[in-house]
Amino acid sequence: MLFNSERSVLEHVRYTDAQDGRVFDFYVKRDDLIDPLVSGNKWRKLKYNIEQARHKSSEGILTFGGAHSNHLVATAKACHVAGLKSVGFVRGEELSYNSNSTLMDCAQLGMELVFISREEYRNKEDWEYMNQVRHGFPSFHIVPEGGSNFYGIIGCQEILKETPNDFDHVFVSAGTGTTAAGLILSAGPHTKVHVVSALKGDFMEAQVSKMLNSVVFDEELVEELKGKTVFHDNAHFGGYSKTTPELLRFIKTILAQTQLPIDSVYTGKALYELLRTWKKGELVEHPKVLFIHTGGLQGMRS
Ligand SMILES: *Cc1c(COP(=O)(O)O)cnc(C)c1O
Repeated sequence: MLFNSERSVLEHVRYTDAQDGRVFDFYVKRDDLIDPLVSGNKWRKLKYNIEQARHKSSEGILTFGGAHSNHLVATAKACHVAGLKSVGFVRGEELSYNSNSTLMDCAQLGMELVFISREEYRNKEDWEYMNQVRHGFPSFHIVPEGGSNFYGIIGCQEILKETPNDFDHVFVSAGTGTTAAGLILSAGPHTKVHVVSALKGDFMEAQVSKMLNSVVFDEELVEELKGKTVFHDNAHFGGYSKTTPELLRFIKTILAQTQLPIDSVYTGKALYELLRTWKKGELVEHPKVLFIHTGGLQGMRS
């Protein structure tokens, strides 16, 4: 395959609480190490979309993203390496190829960028609008924002299969919830999957349910799967891409103490929530815990 998930090692990390000196041991699945740009869950979600594009003999992949989108630059690089073209519809008509390092990387990797207004971007899930887009790029495989489709979920099921898959708790950051859906579908029978939303609002459970339904077509099974899922909707630090001095301090502390680099949009918030949950005594005693490092470090440049 194009990118090697063997680089995603399972790492043991020891965290010492600065206040009371208590020690917490956990594992990290380092998907951030797969590639600097096609990082983390973005490769998982693209893998079978690339395969599908090749299978259909598509010219390339067309997708959507914001100005700093990890998914956009991951798509640009994955397509570049796969010998496919890529088109990115970017939210914000005021932007250009030179607006920031993410968009510059996209352009350098050969991605054609189409800058659209926020209003048009909101329409991107409408049937009519999509037909129009399809008409303009008839030979492209279209992938929704964030790689959030069936192939994305299937790819994310491979993350836990590269581990012993016997954890008491698995923590993951969620944007679209695609990665979470893949983990829930593939987790061991005794594992609780903790879905930490990077966005403000309480829609994540419904969103993940919808995605589970799109794969298993069995309401009873979806309910059973949701029984092993915990949704954390209050760890967004003010909302998507919002941050606080406390979160930034936490990210620095973790890097200094454990050498684990995390970002402020996704992984920082999820790891903060994991340690908060542990400190509150909400995990079983001596739990075996896995943190999924979903990547996102490219976005930290700006
Ligand atoms: C995109 C992204 C997420 C969100 O993944 P979803 O599958 O959309 O929930 C989490 N972490 C990082 C670092 C990301 O780039």
